[in-house]
Amino acid sequence: MPPPQPESCRRENTLHFILSLFPALSCVAFASVGRWDLSGLVFGLTFIVIGYGCIIPRARLFCHHISELPHPAAEKGQVWITLDDGPDPATTPALLAILDRHQAKAGFFLIGDKAQKHPELVREIAQRGHLIGNHSQTHPAGRFWTLRPTEMWQEIASCQETLRGILGADPVWFRPPVGHHNLFIAPVLKALGLTMAIWNCRGFDGIEKRADVILHRISRSVKPGSIILLHDATPVCVEVLERTLHMLQERQLSPVLPG
Ligand SMILES: [Zn+2]
Repeated sequence: MPPPQPESCRRENTLHFILSLFPALSCVAFASVGRWDLSGLVFGLTFIVIGYGCIIPRARLFCHHISELPHPAAEKGQVWITLDDGPDPATTPALLAILDRHQAKAGFFLIGDKAQKHPELVREIAQRGHLIGNHSQTHPAGRFWTLRPTEMWQEIASCQETLRGILGADPVWFRPPVGHHNLFIAPVLKALGLTMAIWNCRGFDGIEKRADVILHRISRSVKPGSIILLHDATPVCVEVLERTLHMLQERQLSPVLPG
């Protein structure tokens, strides 16, 4: 069970909820006086703003985040490899072995439910010097952007509680499932002391099954300072990580953790 939501977070999200009602109320008000044109305009604008702000991972409309490493890191040719959706006993140990072989560190954004089932893997990731981040308790990918304030708190605070219970320390980085946000996420992250990390380089390995295609996409978009999104627990994740590390070496880019 997560701790109760702090009053400041509840207050801020209540305000956001009230603000979110304005477009709907305006649509109804304009329609009720026969101004269907204005009603449609408000509806359309709301649709565009919410669509952009919630669904586009790199949009900063509703919440601040980082999508690349700061300048000094980029100047040194550093990148941050992140692996989402673990831990998984079928793949995480192999990923850890590859990272060790390359003497590379990565960020693992873990799902709370999976971490609860495999706490020994969570401890192993941390013991090997990798970063562990919060990736929500149940990973509600399709509806994360529709979560109400209390559901948002439940998802993120529960994962925080799970990881703290295993590691004895609070993660400080958060990555939302499929990179979606909404109006209620910022107060929750603030109350839990979390910073959101998105990415600026990915190969769509969550849906693509061909390692060659994934690698081509990653090598096309990677640059100094990139945050690279990879996934744990996919059929090709082991091959993709191995080949990504080789490609980074050839480009003289070094994987590091954010300072
Ligand atoms: Zn995910």
